[in-house]
Amino acid sequence: MIYLDYSATTPLDSAVLKKMLPYFSRDFANPASIHSVGQSALKAVEDARHEFAKVLNLKASELIFCSGATEANNLALQGLAKALRGKGDKRNHIITSSIEHDSILEPLHALEKYGYTITRLPVNKEGVISLSSLEHAITDETMLVSIGFVNSEVGSIQPVSKIGRLIRKINERRMKEWLNTQTRKRGARPQPIYFHSDATQAANYFSCSAKLLNVDMLSFSGHKVFGPKGIGLLTVKRDTPLEALLYGGHQERNLRSGTLNVPAIIGFAEAFVRAQKNYKKSATEVTILKNYFARELKKAIPQIKESINLSNASAAHANFLFTGVGGDALVAALDEAGVAASTGSACASGDLSASHTITSLGYTESEARSALRFTLSRLNTKKDLKTAVKRIKQAYTKAIQRFEKASQA
Ligand code: PMP
Repeated sequence: MIYLDYSATTPLDSAVLKKMLPYFSRDFANPASIHSVGQSALKAVEDARHEFAKVLNLKASELIFCSGATEANNLALQGLAKALRGKGDKRNHIITSSIEHDSILEPLHALEKYGYTITRLPVNKEGVISLSSLEHAITDETMLVSIGFVNSEVGSIQPVSKIGRLIRKINERRMKEWLNTQTRKRGARPQPIYFHSDATQAANYFSCSAKLLNVDMLSFSGHKVFGPKGIGLLTVKRDTPLEALLYGGHQERNLRSGTLNVPAIIGFAEAFVRAQKNYKKSATEVTILKNYFARELKKAIPQIKESINLSNASAAHANFLFTGVGGDALVAALDEAGVAASTGSACASGDLSASHTITSLGYTESEARSALRFTLSRLNTKKDLKTAVKRIKQAYTKAIQRFEKASQA
């Protein structure tokens, strides 16, 4: 099988596995235990946390380990909403984009049912929001902006750093205006708008320094960076209010109770630090592979169309519309032919409705149903990409024939 679905997940790096192994058996103790073996597990976790914090330009106390990016996103959105309500902050407006991952859109949908107003910003045909439409959407009620860094389906890249700067400028301007207003005429002190970004798909190919990105919160996942599954991270800048969603044993400064998954944390830190140290090299290498793959594929099947311009996408992403066939039928045919790809995000597969990301780019539902996502990594070679192109062509020809037969019947 030629695996071209690295956005769905990545295999565990063998060097990462090696680091993790002792913590499954020899060093198995609970880091919350006060005996010396527990304390040595705690030290390993804290060392990993410091390594993580260093590459993210954050303090170790600003990191919360959890079960994955789904949980990190839920904690960021619901945890901030809960904390602000708890402080008596009545603002109820959240801004996001129309192409977020379901682990952003669904919790926001849930908040909507509790009276929050959600603005879902449209994107242009390259899958990018406009800064001016964001600025226009901000009101006095806006408490949070959550815009993902790299889209998981098409790989479009949002200007996270610029969004962060814009929000900071608005916060500073409001504060200045308030300070310049005579004390007796002042209303309540303006509360900042917080900025969260789901950077799950970004860590292999972009710097994710919180300082560079001007963010208050960032979400990450272990299994997207050649680390283990079932581990995630939410970074939370010191002054960002957050309330726990899980109550229990007070781990992670009371913000995420539950016994720490020590081997996964050790592995995640190792994988993440490697990803961040090598992101430029990885981006260059994988872009070369992707360009080769795209060129060959377009030569083999001239009917296909790039969903967004591949040069605007993250290094890994090559999403094409295979007009005339259903993406799901094609994924199945490709599987038979020995190529693993996907129609959209793996989490949403099995769902036959058209991808909300592709329709947001301006495509029709039927065009969106023909979208196929290939996501590459440094583990691909030109040789296997060449073979993949042959197999994709065969599968496409077969799927077209089946499709035509079915429509004639
Ligand atoms: N956000 C994005 C952008 C993702 O691609 C994914 C994984 N498909 C998630 C969140 C969820 O991550 P996890 O599998 O760690 O819950």
